[in-house]
Amino acid sequence: MDSDHSVKEAIRVALHQAGACRVGFAAAEPIDQKVAASYAAWITGGNHGEMNYLDRYHDVRNDPRLLLDGARTIISCAFDYRPSLRHPLFADYSLGLDYHEVIRQRLAPVTEYLCRRFGGQMRICVDTAPIRERYWAARAGVGIIGLNGLLIVDGVGSKVFLAEIIWTEEVSPDLSRLGESCKQCGACLRACPGKALKGDCTLDARRCNSYLTIEYRGELPDDLKLPGRIYGCDICQDVCPHNRTAGTTSLTEFTPSDALLRLDTEAISRLTPETFNQIFRHSAVRRTKLSGLLRNLQKNQK
Ligand code: SF4
Ligand code: SF4
Repeated sequence: MDSDHSVKEAIRVALHQAGACRVGFAAAEPIDQKVAASYAAWITGGNHGEMNYLDRYHDVRNDPRLLLDGARTIISCAFDYRPSLRHPLFADYSLGLDYHEVIRQRLAPVTEYLCRRFGGQMRICVDTAPIRERYWAARAGVGIIGLNGLLIVDGVGSKVFLAEIIWTEEVSPDLSRLGESCKQCGACLRACPGKALKGDCTLDARRCNSYLTIEYRGELPDDLKLPGRIYGCDICQDVCPHNRTAGTTSLTEFTPSDALLRLDTEAISRLTPETFNQIFRHSAVRRTKLSGLLRNLQKNQK
């Protein structure tokens, strides 16, 4: 019979081989009541803008056991996406292939293997279920939550995608890092163009360029300025000292495509539905659609 330690180490090794840069374990249980209450107040304050999906399934969000019958463990994984090449108009996370597809494809064979070896059932979540991803990553010891609201992994920084594997078997939890602070330098708060960061590790999405350029569907606010990126933002990550020593990802799927790197404002203004689909077929940028990208571009050129 495998010991708790050897099971966890075997899972860690398998997930690192699948590309995760950090893996941690937490007991599947209802989330901390104070955290649940803060989230409810954040929603009541309208800080989620028009992301109405964030105001649904509160019962599941507060208790991940509802996502899988018999859930006992949450395995949190972080995947480094920091690219070696950047684009002045697109956020780093969007330069490679859509992480939802990439990470699921990487995790699916591993979870099959782990269930065969250790039993139980596993469910993969890659931003595809109402689960408090950063909370569970901090609870599982994968990283800390910074004042910019992002999960920061020691030595890797905040340019990570998060995924969770919910498992019906039990292993011992790793040391929680929930409540641990970032360096608290305030650089992200000062640099945020819309003053969206509230100083309590949350933001007002309605003032966030990332939300406005990706999620928001209407006319952009008159006073919004977009001199830089037209898809996403990255500013509160770029100024963060936790990102200064970070290297770049070794995951080839997150390498920017040449077609995307070649796009400048003029080329974007000439995109047709066909060329947009060609370039962004497997990209997160599809989310804003061509109309959204052109809307953002207009703002950038004002
Ligand atoms: S992504 Fe940009 S606009 Fe949004 S909170 Fe960070 S710095 Fe502010
Ligand atoms: S920029 Fe400073 S305050 Fe903001 S998350 Fe990074 S360390 Fe924390």
